[in-house]
Amino acid sequence: MGIPLASEARLASIRDRVPTVATLCSHSSLQIFHGARLEGFPTLGISVGPPPRFYDAFPLGRPDRFLPVASVKELPHVADRLRSEGAVVIPHGSFVEYLGAEAFGALDVPVFGNRAVLAWESDRRKERDWLDSAGVSMPKLFEDPSEVDGPVIVKYYGAKGGKGFYLAKNRRALDAFTPTGPHVIQEYVLGTRYYLHFFYSPLSDRGYRVGHGSLELLGMDRRDEANIDELYKLGAQEELLKAGIRPTFVVTGNVPVILRESLLERAFDVGARIIERSIELFGGMVGPFCVEGIMTEELEFKVFEISTRIVAGTNLFISGSPYSDLVAPGLSTGRRIAQELKRGRDSDRLAEILS
Ligand code: AMP
Repeated sequence: MGIPLASEARLASIRDRVPTVATLCSHSSLQIFHGARLEGFPTLGISVGPPPRFYDAFPLGRPDRFLPVASVKELPHVADRLRSEGAVVIPHGSFVEYLGAEAFGALDVPVFGNRAVLAWESDRRKERDWLDSAGVSMPKLFEDPSEVDGPVIVKYYGAKGGKGFYLAKNRRALDAFTPTGPHVIQEYVLGTRYYLHFFYSPLSDRGYRVGHGSLELLGMDRRDEANIDELYKLGAQEELLKAGIRPTFVVTGNVPVILRESLLERAFDVGARIIERSIELFGGMVGPFCVEGIMTEELEFKVFEISTRIVAGTNLFISGSPYSDLVAPGLSTGRRIAQELKRGRDSDRLAEILS
């Protein structure tokens, strides 16, 4: 048995009825609705303003019904309505970012996954404590600039899309830079980025056993980042700075990737450590999560970030990925969420996957 996350009171609105899968119309919602429909759930799209017109172009991803709100911040005011609809809210990256961690944490509607993870993900120091204490390799952190002995990346707290990040190729370049706010100085890891799409099910008793359940790998992508991904074509950073061009990491899209098969062992080890430690720290991270890291030429995987819910890179795999095809045909992360909901309901274990 896993750990109960939701109280009886929290689950009252979905007792003895088929829940409605609800999420904000954005990010990975077409995939979430599509997966829910395949598993037989009704769907509800929360739209900011009128429903997005382009959803009409995707009949298999369009939700059955829409609930328009004036702004995402209004969501707590429609909690009664969501409960009366029997909604289970599926969080995704935009959902939590637009609503804010605090309001999301307090949302009085059953939510898929463990919302206690928010406190650990939204604070870079806490996130580092979690991963470090799990024994996951991470880029070195420099408390003092005088310790810097190679290329570093200066990250401002809460910087969106890495906009204000500064790359210094050595200590001299770092000394010449004056940070303008709270930041961390991190080793700039040279290697190839991989974003691993995992799913932890506390309800499963087969497969790659971890914690109370099992760990699945459903896909992998790399993010296209403007303008850093194209900078090499223009030459060295100093020349670019002279021309007034600063490197940024704004995500503009995603490309599918796979790892060398022999590296999968390492990938699963990292995912398993993160889950095991999450169980000790806060009752466990349930459902989809993404481990974001860099594979070095020494084949060491250094994790620079974790996303604790469905990531947009999974949209590449609405009809399956080279990994999920080996779990079940046509399995997207959105569909996997719906399957977990179904299993939780059928086995009366919803309290272990909702909060
Ligand atoms: P983050 O906001 O931590 O997700 O970082 C945004 C982007 O900066 C990542 O997608 C990477 O391209 C890059 N990045 C972050 N940390 C590092 C690092 N330690 N070494 C190299 N690149 C990094």
